[in-house]
Formats: sequence, C-alpha cells, structure tokens
Amino acid sequence: MPTQVKALAMDSATAPFRRIEITRRDPLPDEVVIDIKFAGICHSDIHTARGEWGDVIYPLVPGHEIAGVVTAVGPEVVKFKVGDHAGIGCFVDACGECAHCRIGEENACLERTIWTYNDIGADGVPTAGGYSQQIVARADYVLRIPDSLPLDKAAPLLCAGVTPWSPLVRYNAGSGTRLAVVGLGGLGHMAVQLGKALGCEVTVLSRSLRKREQGLKLGADHYYATADPATFEDLEASFDLMLCTVSADLDVDALVSLLDLGGVLVFLGLPPDEQSFHIEPLCLGHKVITGSDIGGIPGTQAVLDFCAEKGIAAQIELIGADEVTEAYNKVVAGDVEFRYVIDVATI
Ligand code: NAP
Ligand code: ZN
Repeated sequence: MPTQVKALAMDSATAPFRRIEITRRDPLPDEVVIDIKFAGICHSDIHTARGEWGDVIYPLVPGHEIAGVVTAVGPEVVKFKVGDHAGIGCFVDACGECAHCRIGEENACLERTIWTYNDIGADGVPTAGGYSQQIVARADYVLRIPDSLPLDKAAPLLCAGVTPWSPLVRYNAGSGTRLAVVGLGGLGHMAVQLGKALGCEVTVLSRSLRKREQGLKLGADHYYATADPATFEDLEASFDLMLCTVSADLDVDALVSLLDLGGVLVFLGLPPDEQSFHIEPLCLGHKVITGSDIGGIPGTQAVLDFCAEKGIAAQIELIGADEVTEAYNKVVAGDVEFRYVIDVATI
C-alpha cells in the first residue's frame, strides 16, 4: 500500500512553507524506502522554490541533502538492509547505461537525470524531496552514510560536500595547491575543510572579515575580504585553483586576476543572472574558467567515505519545520553558519 507521509511544501514563489501530505509508493524490487531524519537547506532549494531558475512544479517539496535510515528494501536490493544509514542527493534516477552514467557522471545522464524534486519521476508522478518523512528510490542512486558520521551533520555532504569535492579531485588538488574558496557559506565551508584535508594551502575570499575566526577554525590558512580593494592588489596571481560558491552577481575579471598562470576558476555557485568577463586576461595567463555540477554516485560516495575517514562533517544549525520559511530569508541574507538542517521529526 502506498504510504501517506507529511511534508513541507511551497505553493508559489512567495508563499511560506505549509505542511501537506504526499504519497510515497511501495518499493519496486530494486528500490529502498528511507525514513528521512534530516534534510539540509541548500541555496539551490531557494533558487528553485522562488522560481529564480525557471519553471517550478508547485506544490514543491524541496530538499536534496537527505539523510535517514533504511526501513524496507525490495527483493533485488543487495546494497542495503533495514537499519542502514542512507542518503540521497540531487537526483534519484538516471538511465545507468549511457556513456556518462557508465563513468559515474549520472548527474549528466545523456538520457535523463531525474532530479530529487521539481521533476517528474519514472512513475509519472512529480518528485518530492527531503523536507518530508520518507522517500523511495532505486538502491543504485542511494548513498551509504558511514556509521561514524552523525546523520544531521552528514546530510549536507550529499550536495554541499560533493559539489566542491568534484573539482578538487578533477584538478588534482593536494599538497602544493594554492586553493581559494570564494564565499563562505554551505558549499564554501565544506570546500575549506575538504581542501585542507587534501593538503592544499587554503585562502577564503569572503565579502567581509565577519566570519574570519570561524573560517580559520575550519582550516583556512588565510582569510581576506573581497570588499577591500587591497585584497586584489595583495593577492594578484596567487592561486592555482579557485572555487567560487557565490550565489549572486560577481566581478569575474577581478577573480581571474587572482589566478596564477594556467590557474583554474571553477564556478559552483549559480547566480540566476548572466555574468560577463573579458577574454584577454584569460589569453595572457592561459587561465581557465569552468564550472562544475554536484557529482555522480561514485564521487558522492567517495566524499562521504573521505569525510568519515578524516572526521569531517558540515557545521550546522538544526531547525524545526516552523522555522524553514524564515531560514530561507536568513540564507539569502548570509545569516547562517554554515548550513541549516531540518529536523524532519518536527514536520
Ligand atoms: P550559501 O550558503 O548562501 O553561500 C553562498 C555564499 O555566497 C554566501 O555565504 C556568501 O559568502 C556569498 N554571497 C551570498 N550573497 C552574496 C552577494 N550578494 N554578494 C556576494 N557574495 C554573496 O549558498 P550555498 O548553499 O553554499 O550555495 C551557493 C551557490 O551554489 C548557490 O548559487 C547554489 O545554487 C549553488 N550550488 C551549485 C551546485 C552545483 O552543483 N554547481 C550545488 C549546490 C549549490 P560570504 O558571506 O563569505 O561572502
Ligand atoms: Zn544543493
């Protein structure tokens, strides 16, 4: 019998969250049922729910940083058993067979990545995310959360962890890499911790020095304010790799000026509006501007395992269901250190 569960939904771009009931199907033979314990609030939830990235299927139940406990498995599932800690990130399904899926880039499936919310599932029903009590998905798209990671602090790793992890691995970040992290929010605070654990020399570029102490505690070696013009004089040509996590408009040329020869600027943040830059500085310093989108299943499992091994987790503020509407405003205002996580028991 399909199960009715409680969830938090928005009915329009400006509506507050309200409690609704949604239906979760019985698991198919290759699916698992997860009782959700915690769901992180990613800035992407906000961009999506507010219609900043395009069309939205309302009522929308966001949430793609999902951590919980397996409560049922289909007969074909070998990866999980009841009681296991499990997580779901930004997508719940993909074809599994195309060239991209075969190399573990299921988030760029050539057939169709099915997003955890604001999409239509394989069953033809709109997908609903982690701000809900339960979720059902194919085991292949569910992550193992190591027992040593507390579920609340692990939830953000499913997006804010894997998103910086992917370019750190892709560009071989390690000892000797001069890494800059632009924006110290949900993604940024994970980028600092992961970069440090990989052996990089880590510099935070934040708008102000307000979060300096916290940034240094997370492992940053240096901390600068981008509002101070002297930062751009002092740090010219200083970085090999720069991860930009800013969610709003940017001075791209100013960031490029901080790259050393051949340096790589990776956009992770997705400001809704078009951004511009000059080409000449890229040619003169054979610099690279690129972007990166979350990661596939192998990469997401790798970051969870790496965090467990290194004792890394998200730094969170746990909130109840009634605080989510206000939390969205606070995230946009930069008033969170560093990730709000919803205690799903309060829905
Ligand atoms: P967040 O917690 O709000 O962090 C964003 C940071 O950007 C803020 O902490 C702030 O850092 C800086 N910032 C915010 N508003 C700004 C403004 N008006 N001007 C300059 N800087 C500003 O958000 P998040 O959850 O980390 O997500 C960050 C961005 O990445 C969002 O656009 C999100 O949609 C996107 N994202 C992309 C992917 C992907 O796969 N590429 C995955 C997840 C999220 P300071 O206060 O330190 O300056
Ligand atoms: Zn996210």
